[in-house]
Amino acid sequence: MDTKDTDSSNTTMTDNDGKIAKPNIAFIGLGNMGAPMAENLLKAGYALSVYDLSAEATQRLAQSGASVADSPKDAARNARVVISMLPAGKHVHSVYLGEGSTDGLLVSLPKGTLVIDSSTIAAADARLVAEAASKLGIDFLDAPVSGGTGGAIAGSLTFIVGGDDDAFAKAETILAVMGKNIFHAGEHGAGQVAKICNNMLLGILMAGTAEAINLGVKNGLDPKVLSDIMLQSSGRNWTLEVYNPYPQVMENVPSSNGYRGGFMSKLMQKDLNLAMQTAQDTNVDTPMGAKATELYEAHTVENGDRDFSSIMARYDSSALS
Ligand code: NAD
Repeated sequence: MDTKDTDSSNTTMTDNDGKIAKPNIAFIGLGNMGAPMAENLLKAGYALSVYDLSAEATQRLAQSGASVADSPKDAARNARVVISMLPAGKHVHSVYLGEGSTDGLLVSLPKGTLVIDSSTIAAADARLVAEAASKLGIDFLDAPVSGGTGGAIAGSLTFIVGGDDDAFAKAETILAVMGKNIFHAGEHGAGQVAKICNNMLLGILMAGTAEAINLGVKNGLDPKVLSDIMLQSSGRNWTLEVYNPYPQVMENVPSSNGYRGGFMSKLMQKDLNLAMQTAQDTNVDTPMGAKATELYEAHTVENGDRDFSSIMARYDSSALS
């Protein structure tokens, strides 16, 4: 395609008809979240070069039209935008900053490349990568998501973004392909802070709701009746509205399906640990978060792969039967 505007600091390119063209994107990390996010970009007409340690993961994307690279550097060769969706901070560091004597991806990227990391990692880790990127003239955004695999498939994720205004403006069109709500939380790291504040609150609410329902049931109440009462009273919260943890109170939620699917307890525990790390680093008191972390830590020993509403079993083990 002929281009008029090939400034690599701009993620939109216009052709001779003045139509908006789409930048090539490198996508790194094609797991439960990354694969459907990348699929949505392909469906929207973006050219994608993908990389994952797992050949199985890249194969699926190849079938949908992505080209498969054999390293992050190879994936980013012709890309003006890099998106990553990796498990944890150590993977993000290794990809962007390198490990031991191996260089990371950042040093090989041209100035003006836009890097969007959507992994959930510690704010301090995100700031470290942002700082290294900024020294090289690369725009970095931390853009963790909320909405789970369902949101990733439907393209309805919530992106919570930290970084400069200009970089955010450049990323918006691309993020809108994968998500419905896109928030600019503040400077580098702010996306990660907002994300873990939300998930810490969610962990507290889920454990608290399970605890309250259990108290009622052990005192002779029907869990559905009690849930309906709390839903119309001041205990109302998101878990009662759409994600009741007690089996068979609500249809089409993990608690009515053996706690399969949904958001795994081990991922909730990871986010709670990140919240605790941030609280400790910044000397902020989070006693409720600490209690929820303790409960999920014990729960994940045997139930890490079950949905996080299975914390119900901490109070009533029959919930798992
Ligand atoms: P996942 O484990 O399914 O996928 C991660 C992928 O990254 C895997 O395919 C793995 O092979 C790949 N990978 C690991 N190291 C790599 C490297 N060095 N180079 C290239 N690829 C590498 O994880 P997920 O569920 O997709 O989650 C990704 C991130 O999104 C996590 O940070 C998670 O906390 C966050 N998140 C997950 C959910 C969810 O419901 N699963 C919801 C919100 C946020």
